[in-house]
Amino acid sequence: MTLLHRDPQAPQVWAGELPVTNRYTYGIAGEKFFRTLKDEARILGTHCPNCDHTYVPAAIFCERCLSKLDEWVDVGTIGDIVTYTFLHVDLEGNRLAKPEIVAFIRLGDGGLVHLLGEIEPDQVEIGLLVEAVFKSKSKRSGSILDIRYFKPAG
Ligand SMILES: [Zn+2]
Repeated sequence: MTLLHRDPQAPQVWAGELPVTNRYTYGIAGEKFFRTLKDEARILGTHCPNCDHTYVPAAIFCERCLSKLDEWVDVGTIGDIVTYTFLHVDLEGNRLAKPEIVAFIRLGDGGLVHLLGEIEPDQVEIGLLVEAVFKSKSKRSGSILDIRYFKPAG
């Protein structure tokens, strides 16, 4: 097996711009998902009765059977860590004083990638239950960042 090692002489970052413009819309499912996040601090999925599969974030069509999905379910604000990673440098390549922790958190049959907070790096483990911490209602804008981070539950 060959291990690939990063060239220590390589720059940490390349500064520049990509001339890409686009406009992303949330779509019908995303609009309701983010509106409920903003207005009610709840996380919604959609359930496919054919496949008994709950999509999080909500989807409007089932990827498996292509059914249109209109059964909305509140999946709660607590999920378990499926995988995680530590970020030791910022976008400029500067070493962070404290690593940021990013995790994939299972909710329904899907989940969200988000930051962890109120936790020390050595406390993070796969399977740990974590709970969404929302911004105050006046600060929420209908974005995934309306959730500040997930913290250990309970
Ligand atoms: Zn289905």
